[in-house]
Amino acid sequence: MSFEKNLDKYAHLAVEIGVNIQPNETLVVRSPIQCADFVRKVVKKAYNLGAKKVHVEWSDEECSLIEYLNAPDETFNSFPKWTAQKYTDIAKEGGAFLTIYAQNPELLKDVDPQRVANFQKASATALKEWRSLTSSDKCKWSIISIPTESWATKVFPNISKEEAMDKLWEAIFKCTRVDNDDPILAWKKHNKNLKSKMDFLNDRNFKSLHFKSKKTDLTMELPKGHIWQSGASLDPKGVNFNANMPTEEVFSMPHKFKVNGIVHSTKPLVYGGNTIDNFSLTFKDGKIVEFTAEKGYETLKKLIETDEGSHYLGEVALVPFNSPISNTNIIFYNTLFDENASCHFAIGSAYKGCIKNGDTYKDEELDKYGINDSLTHVDFMIGSDDMDIIGTTYNDEKVQIFKNGNWAF
Ligand code: ZN
Ligand code: ZN
Repeated sequence: MSFEKNLDKYAHLAVEIGVNIQPNETLVVRSPIQCADFVRKVVKKAYNLGAKKVHVEWSDEECSLIEYLNAPDETFNSFPKWTAQKYTDIAKEGGAFLTIYAQNPELLKDVDPQRVANFQKASATALKEWRSLTSSDKCKWSIISIPTESWATKVFPNISKEEAMDKLWEAIFKCTRVDNDDPILAWKKHNKNLKSKMDFLNDRNFKSLHFKSKKTDLTMELPKGHIWQSGASLDPKGVNFNANMPTEEVFSMPHKFKVNGIVHSTKPLVYGGNTIDNFSLTFKDGKIVEFTAEKGYETLKKLIETDEGSHYLGEVALVPFNSPISNTNIIFYNTLFDENASCHFAIGSAYKGCIKNGDTYKDEELDKYGINDSLTHVDFMIGSDDMDIIGTTYNDEKVQIFKNGNWAF
């Protein structure tokens, strides 16, 4: 099938299954400038489906790097209020957000990590209201990725730029089911499959989970009223959307204060333009009390020290070792892809939709229910082919959930 045709299908998928644009809606597309060809297709498709207005916001990582290397220190301590306000206004008016996430995984490796950490914190603080609207599904949002040269050559370092781009496109088309004859139908089926695993976990209402592999030995309790989610989400009007494309995970929240043991990363984590690799986190009563990293220790330290909540977990997600993205055997250096190839946890805030009445609780009540809150939410991969997960129910019944990295039921 021709590349152009796949590109069209991908754009349609992003607009119809990703943000699922309805007549008279506003769409914000946030994209690197290298992805302009694709974005134009998205804009056209959105108007064809009846969108009222599509705003496109371009970013350029080269300009970001120039800024990080040349601007004064105080530049990184603030984030424009008007940008944050614009997002919040559009979200409250029922607009949708499509983010194209594609970055050079080592863009900021020569930048002072303090500058990067300061800016992460300033932007997260300013965007907190908008993030809480998206993370509680008060508006539709979706994240997808498009190859860029800097990213593709990191994933495939031993071939030419052109070949690397082709290979990354091919992998993305495969992982997002664009290579199916009818990707939209394929996604509907896929969402249904994920739902069957999700329903099993919700029906069992586990009290705790034990993760065990050669390198990991960790027990977490799940808060009372926790909810497992997967695939499609619903906006307040009851319209389906897929927040991540691809997605292979079934996810919920751990109890903020009831995680104990040690977990080892199994894939590199790209965070803030740097790569953290071969790291471990030790938890006591939910809190990270010790950590190690073979690569990116400073970046990991800054991430954990973002605020109080970044010392705790906010997400637990199950992804079988034998699944489409994992089976490509590619390390994508892009969390959207790598997290959907592996069981993962997230440092930082929990999704309020992962617990009953989650969005009705006030900030000061969250601890009482075991819900973590933070400026940050960063997934990291912990799954492996020797991972066993045992669930314990409120009747003390033990149920094998994962055996050797895969669903045991
Ligand atoms: Zn996740
Ligand atoms: Zn996450």
